[in-house]
Amino acid sequence: MYVSISIGEEDLELIMGKAYGSAYPAALQSAHCPRCRLPDNAELLPERLWLNPAGDVLVQGACRQCGGAVEKLIETGIDPVQFDQAMAIRDYKIEISKDYEVKV
Ligand SMILES: [Zn+2]
Repeated sequence: MYVSISIGEEDLELIMGKAYGSAYPAALQSAHCPRCRLPDNAELLPERLWLNPAGDVLVQGACRQCGGAVEKLIETGIDPVQFDQAMAIRDYKIEISKDYEVKV
């Protein structure tokens, strides 16, 4: 299945491990909002998390300043440990729990 699937914050915490407490807030503070024209400096209020087949997590949400739709890709897939954890969560959700949505 070469699709992005929905995950929860608890899944992201498992994927990121020790980095979750620092790298996730840092990512949310460095989104790009095309309306505010704050390149890589807008604050993203997360609404949905999507895990892609490469092990990266796309955060979809709203810009705190203008409320417009903003998203940020967290490249968890480039870290071997985080990639393995992301794949384990994908396999579990797709094969066993079937508790996910597919991003269209
Ligand atoms: Zn904005």
